[in-house]
Amino acid sequence: MAQQLKILIVEDMAQDMELIIIQLKKEGFDFKYKWAQNKKEFITEIPAFCPDIILSDYSMPSFTGMDALEIARETAPDTPFIIVTGSLNEEIAVSCIKHGAWDYVIKEAIIRLGPAIRNALNLKDQKQKKRQAQSELLRSEQLYRLLAGNISDMVSKVNLEGEFEFVSPSSFTLLGYEPDEILGKNIYSFIHGDEIKSVKADMALIINQTKPVITQCRFKKSNGKYVWVEISSSGFLNDEHKFSGEILSVTRNIQKRKEEEAIRDAVFNIGQAVVKSLSQKELFAIIKTELQHIFPDSYFHLGLYDSNKQIVEYPSGTMQPSHDTPKTCNNCIINYIIQKNKSIIFSQEEVDKLIKNGEIKGCNPECRSCMGIPLHGDEKVTGGLVVRNPHKSNVYSENDLRLLEFIASQIGLSILGKTNEEKLIRAKEQAEESDRLKSAFLSNMSHEIRTPMNAILGFAELLSQYPLDEEQMDYIARIKESGTMLIKLINDIIDLSKIEAGQLSVDIHTFSIQKLLEDLFISFEKVKNELKKADLKLVMAPIEQDYFIQSDSYRLKQVLSNFLSNAIKYTPKGVITIGAKKTGKGTISFYVKDTGIGILPEKLNSIFERFHKIDNTDTISSGTGLGLAICRSLAGYLEASINVESKFGKGSVFSIDLPFVQSKSANISESHDDQILFSNFKNKSILIVEDDESSYFYIASALKKTGASIIWAMDGDQAIDICKKDFTIDLILMDIRLPKLSGYAATQTIKSFRAELPIIAQTAYAMQGEKQKCFDAGCDDYLAKPILPDDLIRLISKYINKPDESDNDPEDQKE
Ligand code: ADP
Repeated sequence: MAQQLKILIVEDMAQDMELIIIQLKKEGFDFKYKWAQNKKEFITEIPAFCPDIILSDYSMPSFTGMDALEIARETAPDTPFIIVTGSLNEEIAVSCIKHGAWDYVIKEAIIRLGPAIRNALNLKDQKQKKRQAQSELLRSEQLYRLLAGNISDMVSKVNLEGEFEFVSPSSFTLLGYEPDEILGKNIYSFIHGDEIKSVKADMALIINQTKPVITQCRFKKSNGKYVWVEISSSGFLNDEHKFSGEILSVTRNIQKRKEEEAIRDAVFNIGQAVVKSLSQKELFAIIKTELQHIFPDSYFHLGLYDSNKQIVEYPSGTMQPSHDTPKTCNNCIINYIIQKNKSIIFSQEEVDKLIKNGEIKGCNPECRSCMGIPLHGDEKVTGGLVVRNPHKSNVYSENDLRLLEFIASQIGLSILGKTNEEKLIRAKEQAEESDRLKSAFLSNMSHEIRTPMNAILGFAELLSQYPLDEEQMDYIARIKESGTMLIKLINDIIDLSKIEAGQLSVDIHTFSIQKLLEDLFISFEKVKNELKKADLKLVMAPIEQDYFIQSDSYRLKQVLSNFLSNAIKYTPKGVITIGAKKTGKGTISFYVKDTGIGILPEKLNSIFERFHKIDNTDTISSGTGLGLAICRSLAGYLEASINVESKFGKGSVFSIDLPFVQSKSANISESHDDQILFSNFKNKSILIVEDDESSYFYIASALKKTGASIIWAMDGDQAIDICKKDFTIDLILMDIRLPKLSGYAATQTIKSFRAELPIIAQTAYAMQGEKQKCFDAGCDDYLAKPILPDDLIRLISKYINKPDESDNDPEDQKE
């Protein structure tokens, strides 16, 4: 509810008083009033009643309306004062208005009283609001002035041209300028050249898009140095909320923040450089660049400490004191710091004193200010870092020293890491080198043993085809047995070294288990017969169904061959059964069961250990103890497991359980064991490339019965010459290690002009990858020495056209 209007009426006449009251009521005012009949009552009522409006007669006996007006202006200046008089002339009215009366009403026209009161009250209201607004404006202005004058940030205003129109006093603390020194000048004249472009672009954003922006730049101080500042700016808006053409900015000193950022970045970059496998030279170059960001105008020297020789080394690429500094030093400032093992700030005088006292000498460059930090790695001093300024004294503070210590700790660790890394690389290189040497040695050994064995076993085989008496046959059997053992030993050693080097590879393909077992059975039946083990029976257990499985048949055969050789070796008489069966565990188990000497339970675990042989002094003791160890490793490659069950004196069962991966298609890659043997090579010409006379003689003898004409080349060059001249040659047997030109190179050349001519590598190189190398050189096939006559003929027949039936005269073969 609106408050009642309080009206103070100054009137000496009761009639006029009544007239006024009647008129006020008529006008519908909700009011209460006080009647002051004289000056005294008026003066009392003004403060007591606190009227909203004063209505005053002009002519009263004791005082006039003008007197009342005077009093009211002094005591209640904001209260509307209206003269209500009957005898007023125009002049007095104007004078009253001039003196501050708000209106006047003539009693004869009392009807105007209502509108006059309303007008006056309105006016009073407006005046009050205006005053309130003014005082608020004043207050906020005071507040902003207070803020601008007292905050450490500089508050400024620039116009569209970039000229300063207002600058707060903090310009002095921030930049060293009094506001007057900046006012009227252009902001861009203070900004560092590198950042003018970006600041202008930011200003354009404010001008064109009225976007507030924060920009960072270097601002020139009164001493000529630059300080990093952050300027937060926005456009001044006019009454229509449009950009007024003035930009208000608050500029803050961010030098410390920038320095901290630079330090953080430098530490980060040094850390990154450490993580990246850079060389020490590259690493030091980065350290130097990063330090320059933190300590501009300074020089940096880094030396590594050799504690054995007690000298500081400046390896090439490190930060040595000067170009002519020697590569090592034992009495420089870095050495001093390393000996003291603590961080030190030096003045030039202190350095001079140390030199004078002989504590340091040598390569110490000029330094008005200098800091030195020892570098640590693994708690040992690994070097020292020196930062120096040759121009100014006292530039480094304790804070700088702490900072440098932090960076030095990073560098120390990185040097340690690098050194360890380099040691590791060296160790790895050495290991690789020794691995290469070992491989080369094994390859040579294998070659050197296989070459004579080729002739020994080959000729023994050829001899055995002659009609000999029993004793002679026995001698030959012994030669072959011993030779085979020697070859097995070489194979085992090579396999073992491949396994150790992780170089053994498996070739997964599809094969028939029936075929695999049959092959093994046939070859071991032969072995058994050659060993004249008449009381030993070899049996192949019938398999429920032939499966085509996926695995490496060559490696599986190798494992089973080991089992079989052992079974034959450790079963003087009885039965050896070879077989395969599917197990319930998703595997297929290949086994060799014998009724031999068996193994004691306590020995069962150790037989798979390398070189482990059970001391069966009373029985067979040949063997290296490598076979089962290799089998176990091979099983690992085949994702299989090896098991043994044995009863001492009764016999053993060795088995290998392979994952049963059945192949749907019978796309089998089998060996060529069953190639039809065409042994009549009449009218065919075979070139044997062989430098070892015995080997040549053996191959020539082995091929003699085929009727092929044989040509001999003793090296690669000769082979090429012959092939160029003689176009009747049908096949080449190419040795690989040859004097002058190697078999690989000779093959490549011959294939370049006679691509269709089959070349079979016959080599004593049997190491991993050598077969592939032969194929890469262009060979069509490969035979590893020692080569058996039948294998040789079988392979040749694969490449030499099938002869006419008429040519295949068995009589010829008897020759
Ligand atoms: P080795 O070359 O000595 O045969 P292996 O590693 O093949 O080496 O075998 C290790 C040892 O395990 C053999 O020395 C032998 O004592 C024992 N062994 C292996 N197979 C049989 C077997 N079928 N019957 C009895 N003992 C065996």
